[in-house]
Amino acid sequence: MARERRPSWRDRYPDEITCVRCLEPRDQMELDRLLWCVRCRALARNRASWWGWLGGMLFGGVLALYIWTVIRPTDLVIGGWIATLVAGVWIGSKVARELVYGIMRFRNAKAIEAMPPDTAGEEPGA
Ligand SMILES: [Zn+2]
Repeated sequence: MARERRPSWRDRYPDEITCVRCLEPRDQMELDRLLWCVRCRALARNRASWWGWLGGMLFGGVLALYIWTVIRPTDLVIGGWIATLVAGVWIGSKVARELVYGIMRFRNAKAIEAMPPDTAGEEPGA
């Protein structure tokens, strides 16, 4: 009686599952473990990347302040510090994006994409 296929979380669900984010029925292959559909994951990623850039800019601002006030670069090496700053913003945005996405996944807010688009909310940095 060898078990040829291991039971997975998908076995507990019917073929069509309602996505918890947009409340639209989806094929279960489109959903992941948290019952987010492909579209909702993409939306969350997209949103997280905006927050990521914001976080990166913030981090870059602090870094710039630190370089400006503590290190006090001379004109000679300012180019190198600007490169450092750019790298800092880039890395900071990536870290912040993953963090924001992780928080979104962790909080797993229900039906958040089912609401009509918010017309007042503008993307930061757009
Ligand atoms: Zn969805």
